[in-house]
Amino acid sequence: MKKLVIAFLIGIEALAVVAAMDPLDMRWTFGAHEPITMYRRKGVKTTGGIEGSSKWTDEWLNWFDTESPKLMKELGLNWCHARFYKGMGWEFEKKDYPNVRRFVDAAHANGVHVLAYIQFMTLYYENMLAEIPELATWAAKDYEGRFRCYHGNSYYRWLPCISCDEWVDYLIPIMKFAVTEGGFDGVMFDNATSKICYCERCKRKFREHLAKLPDLEQRFGFTDMRFVQPPPESVLKGEIKDALAQELIFWRSRMISDIFAKFHRELKKANPNAILSANVFEPRCADRMRTECVDIPQMIANLDFMVAQSGNYPEYDAANDRLRTRFRLLKTLRTLGMPNVALCDNDSNMTPEQEKYYLLPLLEDVLLGGVPTDRTVVSPGADCFYDKHKLERRRPLLGLFNTFVRNERGMLASRPYEPVKLLFPVQSTILSDRCHRGLGVAEEICLRRHVPFGYIISNPDALIIPEDTEVLVVSDQTCLSEAQCDSLVTWAKKGGKLVVTGDSGRCDELNRQYQTNPLKPRLAGLANVVWRDASDTFSGRFSISWAHNISAPSDNGDRLVADLAKVGFRMPYELRNVPPWVLTEVKRTQDGYAVNCLNFNPSTPLPEIEVLAPGRVVRKPTAIEEDTASRSLYRLFDVVGQ
Ligand SMILES: [Zn+2]
Repeated sequence: MKKLVIAFLIGIEALAVVAAMDPLDMRWTFGAHEPITMYRRKGVKTTGGIEGSSKWTDEWLNWFDTESPKLMKELGLNWCHARFYKGMGWEFEKKDYPNVRRFVDAAHANGVHVLAYIQFMTLYYENMLAEIPELATWAAKDYEGRFRCYHGNSYYRWLPCISCDEWVDYLIPIMKFAVTEGGFDGVMFDNATSKICYCERCKRKFREHLAKLPDLEQRFGFTDMRFVQPPPESVLKGEIKDALAQELIFWRSRMISDIFAKFHRELKKANPNAILSANVFEPRCADRMRTECVDIPQMIANLDFMVAQSGNYPEYDAANDRLRTRFRLLKTLRTLGMPNVALCDNDSNMTPEQEKYYLLPLLEDVLLGGVPTDRTVVSPGADCFYDKHKLERRRPLLGLFNTFVRNERGMLASRPYEPVKLLFPVQSTILSDRCHRGLGVAEEICLRRHVPFGYIISNPDALIIPEDTEVLVVSDQTCLSEAQCDSLVTWAKKGGKLVVTGDSGRCDELNRQYQTNPLKPRLAGLANVVWRDASDTFSGRFSISWAHNISAPSDNGDRLVADLAKVGFRMPYELRNVPPWVLTEVKRTQDGYAVNCLNFNPSTPLPEIEVLAPGRVVRKPTAIEEDTASRSLYRLFDVVGQ
């Protein structure tokens, strides 16, 4: 009993720390998160644009450890991750610890919280073999049995094998040291994903996993799993119907999630206030979900905070009518209740045009619950330790931004207005490109047509429809479990408005055809349901990856918008003159609706947007103060009246 009470108290305390991480109060920045060995080994430009081989790198690091936190404080930046363990072996890396500690102390003295950077995806064998002679048995192998290496030219970085318990257990005391003697506020595992390993241990464990599954004969056609080989990566794409391939994905995602559950337990034992975070890149990327163990709901269960790094700097490519945004990602993580920093900037490579609209990603973050990021502190030049010109250009903009957040805090903290829900059955989007695209096209239509949307994120066991759902859209979700179909039918029969497109419900949650679709015939004849056999499509490419490559919907989304009207969906206001490259985020405020308009094509000035709301009052739009650059970025319309 006593143990239980203690566990409960620890839980409450840890929750309190996490609750204090309010994105509206947080401003993320970068510590120097690589050790000098990493810069030297790489030689070329790396994090923050630092020339690894330059003669001043160590001097810069020295400055960073002592002086940079003052600059962070001056700019109002109050959270960062900083170097601690890069995967070179603790015996090697602990020599740098006094410098690391100097930074942590300086950061805390300036009100900056610091997470310890721990590399999840690397074994630097050149440094680590001296400490761990059996290191080769910790490393991952590719399908041909060769060592797997980190991407790019990093032949000196082996990837670890996630089924190696010795490696997992090796990281735990390092992590614990960070949040006890190390003085860090938490840890951030970078690259918390894993490419498929084909080592003998993984093969054995995979076969053992398969042997324990039910219905082997029915599912695989045979029951003796002793001679099975894990399928090659090449089959993990498109429509994944190979049951072995499916199980490889599930088994590996579960394994990484178990590792993080263990990290979470051990971290809180060492320091209940410490924060566990991890960088899972763009968790909506289908390839990563399939081959790198990214299963968002599973990962989230073990994290206090998420870093989601991608190359999706907000922009509109007019020549190709292509919008690049983190709205999908930020809305998904908000739905899951996961505080996050969704990194998209790469300070060393920002174009002059991007630099001109420096506030754009910060606004995108703050409107959708992400933590705004600024990397000015990590942008050194050869003649100075930070880029003074950049700093002077950004300082007033950051000031404008902070004033905006302060003035509009009530609005920004209000709940989002998301009456249209898109069904997001995570497992289906992993096993089926068609489901992945189906969700993607509905999102793209809602974004471009300014339909206020959110998600219902569902696993095959359960589909819970939240109370604020006015219309539920099932966009070509071919793979749905019977339980998911039952929930949809029950909801529709009670009068819930439903738009279903394409071949939804044709297959079960494992992409196996039903004899009879458990959805379509049961929804027939209901006046509150529109079923359209033709699915919505893209006019060109659709790729959610490091950088999204998403073309416009082929009919501009007209059919889906018409279907929403057919089931009786009406917005409480009407927007006129809002081009597709201006995205809207609407909040449900105390006295009505706050319509935030963000211009993804700011080199084209915002048109004169009109908001009409008969019976309600629309207040004169506000921009972010009277600054020329930011005036083309953003408008806020208050629609007053319930
Ligand atoms: Zn392995």
